[in-house]
Amino acid sequence: MKPARRGPSFRPGPSIHYHEPVTESSLHPWDRAAPERAGKPSAYALLPEDFAALAAPGRAEHLFAQCQHPWAWVDDRPRLSRVIRDWMARNLDSSLPEILEHKVSEDRSTKLVLGLSDGERIEAVHLPSEFRDPRLTLCLSSQVGCAMGCTFCATSAMGIKRNLTAGEIVGQVLVLLRAVGAERTHRITILFMGMGEPLHNLEHVHRAIRVFNHERGLNISTRRITVSTSGLANGIERLARLSPRPWLALSLNATTDEARDAVMPVNRAWNLARLRQALAAWPLGARERLTVEYVLMAGVNDTLEDADRLAEWMGTLRERHNLNLIRMNEHAASTFKEPDEGRLAAFADRLKARGCFVTVRKSRGRDVQGACGQLVRGDFRRG
Ligand code: SAH
Ligand code: SF4
Repeated sequence: MKPARRGPSFRPGPSIHYHEPVTESSLHPWDRAAPERAGKPSAYALLPEDFAALAAPGRAEHLFAQCQHPWAWVDDRPRLSRVIRDWMARNLDSSLPEILEHKVSEDRSTKLVLGLSDGERIEAVHLPSEFRDPRLTLCLSSQVGCAMGCTFCATSAMGIKRNLTAGEIVGQVLVLLRAVGAERTHRITILFMGMGEPLHNLEHVHRAIRVFNHERGLNISTRRITVSTSGLANGIERLARLSPRPWLALSLNATTDEARDAVMPVNRAWNLARLRQALAAWPLGARERLTVEYVLMAGVNDTLEDADRLAEWMGTLRERHNLNLIRMNEHAASTFKEPDEGRLAAFADRLKARGCFVTVRKSRGRDVQGACGQLVRGDFRRG
């Protein structure tokens, strides 16, 4: 058989790993679709056109708005007529995640441990605005566990249990908004930075984004929805083509392939050069910025040479990015430690001197295990 011909524009650079065609033996954990939950469609994942297509009684837009405006609910449920409630009970799943634990941190962030109707548990966090109220930042989970195996992250110790449904993703927001007493006037920011890899569950994550973004629902602008990925380059490229398209954050966390291979196994499939290529193709909107997240781990990725390589890797992205430096949140499932303040400051200064726009992210909710990389099902938390 003749080998497949590649078009003239196919010019892989010598250091770019292309993801090989998938065969059973080459499957990575993230190449396999995560298990899905079966059941009726969730009332909270439907758009007005879906209610209309299902011939729901009443006006579809009104039904959608009632489901998505939790400040107007009565007894923790949308205010709907008996006819509609009966129809919903027959045709849809109207269950919401149940609050099992509600912890408020010293810094006022709120972590909810949520029970799903099949017994799984996830976590969702509210980070209050440091600067201006009324602003709510909600950090959502996208999967139960995670398949990516990053060695510094507590969630990875769980492995992957299943994808969250779009209804469960939207449900986190509705339940969080109720729990923090949100009102219609609050401006909401959504971060897919909780448990799981959102691009490994793109279908449900994107449906949830459509629901969040709908003008009759929470009407959250795509500028205020950020999807954070460990670097599934094919997922970044799929997301780039979707509409509505959220903003993107990339968890970089190392500056050589050797170091990144060691802490983020996904780098063995899509390495730094390939990732940089995926970011270069990301169609940045007018005021859009890419976020690059970098978890600093003492003795692993915190030298000034790392800072230089990071700036180098950013290249022209330096004009259109936010670089978030995050202190490693230490936990029992990993031996990595956070660097001392001096090292962190020197790292940040070096990047600033090289033209990067650096923010040292305050770690929020550490005392309630709500900080980055600390989200994990209770029975996996040790120490
Ligand atoms: N799976 C996605 C989103 C969830 S993780 C991703 O990896 O981007 C959200 C952020 O938490 C990522 O930037 C990740 O690098 C960071 N993180 C994971 N473990 C951490 C830890 N122990 N300390 C600090 N940040 C951590
Ligand atoms: Fe998954 Fe993100 Fe944790 Fe990596 S850092 S294991 S991708 S949740």
